[in-house]
Amino acid sequence: MNFIKLPQLVDRRGKLKSKGTYSKRTTSITHRVWHHSLTKKNLAGSTAESFAVYHVNTLGWPGVGYTFIIEPKNVINTPNGKRARIVYAHDIDRRTYHVGNSNQFSLGICVAGDYRYDTMDDATLASIAELHTALVKDGIGKFDKAHNEMPGYSWKACCEYNYRDAFDWKGSKNPTKPAPAPDVYIIQEGDTLWSIAHKDGTGGVQVEDLIKANPGIVPEKLKIGQKINFGNAKDTIVQPDDTKETGTSNSGDEIIKSIQKMLNSRYKTGLIVDGYNGPKTKSALVMALQTELNKQFNKGLVVDGKWGAKTKATIVTVQKGAKGNLTWILQAALYLEGFNPGSLDSIFEKDTESALYKFQKARGISADKKAGKGTFTELFTA
Ligand SMILES: [Zn+2]
Repeated sequence: MNFIKLPQLVDRRGKLKSKGTYSKRTTSITHRVWHHSLTKKNLAGSTAESFAVYHVNTLGWPGVGYTFIIEPKNVINTPNGKRARIVYAHDIDRRTYHVGNSNQFSLGICVAGDYRYDTMDDATLASIAELHTALVKDGIGKFDKAHNEMPGYSWKACCEYNYRDAFDWKGSKNPTKPAPAPDVYIIQEGDTLWSIAHKDGTGGVQVEDLIKANPGIVPEKLKIGQKINFGNAKDTIVQPDDTKETGTSNSGDEIIKSIQKMLNSRYKTGLIVDGYNGPKTKSALVMALQTELNKQFNKGLVVDGKWGAKTKATIVTVQKGAKGNLTWILQAALYLEGFNPGSLDSIFEKDTESALYKFQKARGISADKKAGKGTFTELFTA
């Protein structure tokens, strides 16, 4: 085996988080399938370890879904120069989960990174090329494909890098553009609501949306061949961070995680701390706001997490110089909308004011640098 001799390869078989084992392939590998993680390449969570934790704990898979994971953040000095580390995660003959019904004959290779924003460095390109060359020499697979070039996954925007640039590629240089998400999706091997939901496709979908669009569904008991309605779910507006394929418990947005933790501890909102901005997180923030309005100003609101006329009518304007939980709620809400107020320190100073101003301008509401009824309405109903 040539691949095993690559100096940048580390053998982590049997050492990553797992729960049981993947079954053996019963046919040989014909396809090498290239994936991305859609986690920023320099994040702590952009590693095989983190992906394994996510795939086991959240997706309920036996282990990380790929045979090889290339880690741009872990650069190794080799006799040939700097190389991104390649983690060898499972025996080649294990049928890991990464392309559903094609798992049987497909080898999964994941390059960590979010290449909508990250650029691919030479150390990573070299590792892709050398792994590819070794696998070809070893006779492992005949065809190279992106995730979205495999049956049933044309709507996935995976992978977002051009693996064709890394090695001597004979076919078309152009990656396949993702197709629109289908109305109905047929469950394939290893699919879970979470793997479908945090999807890297056009017009993303969240787990809550899928549950809503599929009344009576039991998320833990999906069967291969079962039809899942994307329905209205696919129209949900998605933040960039909602669309991770290999989101890990360590790789969701750290600040969103801290917001979720704070909401849980302070307001008992019972959120899953996953670092993803979804409708539940936003609703929990409305609950926090209602709680504070009741506590501090005796507004007597029903704490239901729904933004409505009553809550709007009781809003107290938050502006420069303010301190406390209302300011924190404003900062958190701005952050979730993509307007970073610096630190979420509950103090309304320059950074919060500037984030607020940018938000108001962007949304075309009165840019008065004060958070009143108009601003909170925009934050919680947009
Ligand atoms: Zn993929």
